[in-house]
Amino acid sequence: MTGGIDHAKVDWEANAPRSIFFDDIYFSGDGPAEALHVFAGGNALAERFLSARHFTIGELGFGTGLNILVAWDLWRRVEKPAGARLEFLSFEKFPLSKDHLARAHAAWPQFASLSERLIAAAPPAIEGAHRTTLEPGVALTLVLGDARDRLALIDARVDAWFLDGFAPARNPDLWTPEIFEELARLSKPGATAATFTVAGGVRRGLQGAGFSIEKRAGFGRKREMLTARLETPAPKPRAPWFANANLNTLSPGAKIAVIGGGVAGASLAREIRRAGMIATIIDPEGIAGGASGNPAGLIMPRLDFDDSPTARYFRAAYAQALTTIEELERESGKSFFNPCGVHLRPLDYADRERQEKILTARLLPEEFAFARDGGIFFPQGGVIDPVAYCAALAGEAPILRCKASAISNADDAVLVSLAGGDSLRFDAAIIANSRDALRFVGARSLPIYGVMGQIDLFPEAPAPLLASVFGQYAAPAPGGGVVIGATYQRVGADVAPAVTARSTCANIDAVRSVLPELAASLHPEAVRSRASVRCQTPDHLPVAGPLPDWNFYSGAYDDLRLGKVRDYPQGEVAPRLFILTGLGSRGLVTAPFTASMVVAEMIGAPDAMVTTGAAAGVALMVAACIAGTELTRIQALPD
Ligand code: SAM
Repeated sequence: MTGGIDHAKVDWEANAPRSIFFDDIYFSGDGPAEALHVFAGGNALAERFLSARHFTIGELGFGTGLNILVAWDLWRRVEKPAGARLEFLSFEKFPLSKDHLARAHAAWPQFASLSERLIAAAPPAIEGAHRTTLEPGVALTLVLGDARDRLALIDARVDAWFLDGFAPARNPDLWTPEIFEELARLSKPGATAATFTVAGGVRRGLQGAGFSIEKRAGFGRKREMLTARLETPAPKPRAPWFANANLNTLSPGAKIAVIGGGVAGASLAREIRRAGMIATIIDPEGIAGGASGNPAGLIMPRLDFDDSPTARYFRAAYAQALTTIEELERESGKSFFNPCGVHLRPLDYADRERQEKILTARLLPEEFAFARDGGIFFPQGGVIDPVAYCAALAGEAPILRCKASAISNADDAVLVSLAGGDSLRFDAAIIANSRDALRFVGARSLPIYGVMGQIDLFPEAPAPLLASVFGQYAAPAPGGGVVIGATYQRVGADVAPAVTARSTCANIDAVRSVLPELAASLHPEAVRSRASVRCQTPDHLPVAGPLPDWNFYSGAYDDLRLGKVRDYPQGEVAPRLFILTGLGSRGLVTAPFTASMVVAEMIGAPDAMVTTGAAAGVALMVAACIAGTELTRIQALPD
């Protein structure tokens, strides 16, 4: 169980990499022509793209990304239906570093602009799914880790597979019957696959999983290659409460109402824009008026000592937050993040032991988390200016400074009623207004609640060099000075946030217990305090996904209450209605990733967190509410 993964080790023969681990080449001779013949040709991509509204390519072995460059280039050149979408889902155990990618790509000037975008999007070497938009309508979900474990954690409907995991003799792991079974599970009926090898084990494996196979002329000196087609119907979903029977897939150009302008809504606006759709943010306070409007926020990971869905979720969220912040600063030319590093101090002896285990297990790669001064140091972490961050995430999305009072379905649309009496028509709506989500009928039963927190800013105090976390935190403030926080107090539904001198004293006392010198420089008379209410859930995981049809769930899943395991039907959700809330105190880190999951679900893209309570969260949480049981118990039900 590790979250950090190793980069590939390669030798170079001219600009062609050769894997030292596998003693095999990434591609032979004329790489682009070979990829075009074997993978694009073997899956008849040029013809199928002509009529594709939504096409998903799956790949075992991302390697240099050449196959993806070739398919993406082909996609751009083919005349497709308006609003067509291309999704890549690729698996890689040993990613090449950006330098190595650049060296390999240098041989293909014809793909220079695509290559630049692909390399810029290459994620850090952290295990798990990393999703990025390559251009409007084209996205890549790159899953880092061993495909033998990772395939089972994904849900997707793949149209065409590129089986490119080195020669079976050199890497038998990627050619097993179990792998082929997983490919069939992740395929649409009639999906195709192509590979350069015609090895007997590969042919038998594909056939055993329900594919018919055909040998074709190979590329260059290779006499033969293999194509395959899935002849069996798609198997039933393993976790029916995650599968949504009546989900629409929204097309580019769709108009989406985002209710709430905090970090959740702003992150959604960005993902909606990147998916080629049009977001309107509706919030009487504008951008970052609530808890996201604090003068400072920490960017740091939450590390869970296991490989649970929760642990994977928080790890992936941290990786995506770092990439997102870097992209936003580059795109906007503005600086709103101080990557000063975050020092996490153990709270007690047990916590120290836990930290040691975390470091030994390499839950993050060493360059992302290492031992320092009796705690863990996260060098990429730091302090963000939440208001500027949210503004950059929201980008050009129009903001309606109104209160949305009701949402309803109407024909093929959603009507959002505004407090003034008007109502507006959208193709879909996402509830992202923190605990105010409870004001909408469709979200009323969710177990979310408010937690008030106060942070205190001392603009005149000398700023520390790095952020320290010790239950509470002390950090350099974005505009200068020191920021400390935060108190934590559960509050009732209608309690408005209020600053108190007592909370300031409590925050200073907490700092004094670990950083007495810093505490001595904090003078309460010079403080600027801010209190806000965050939205929390019982398991501290967000609520994210399509809004459930409560009546359907309470009937169909009622037996869960009795602990009965039986053949449950697929979940049913309210058409065109989605939700993202309950981000708690980690929203600045988790919002970009969680928003990308929600938007992936809206457009029918691969679901990288299928077994996470957070991702398919609502369905699972509804089931849990009905059952009156813990989410973990439901996750533990056998498939
Ligand atoms: N498609 C790639 C390209 O366009 O450059 C070439 C892929 S290369 C032939 C095979 C890739 O499979 C390597 O990058 C290797 O690290 C990866 N790989 C090998 N075993 C794997 C496993 N068990 N899980 C995921 N990836 C694996």
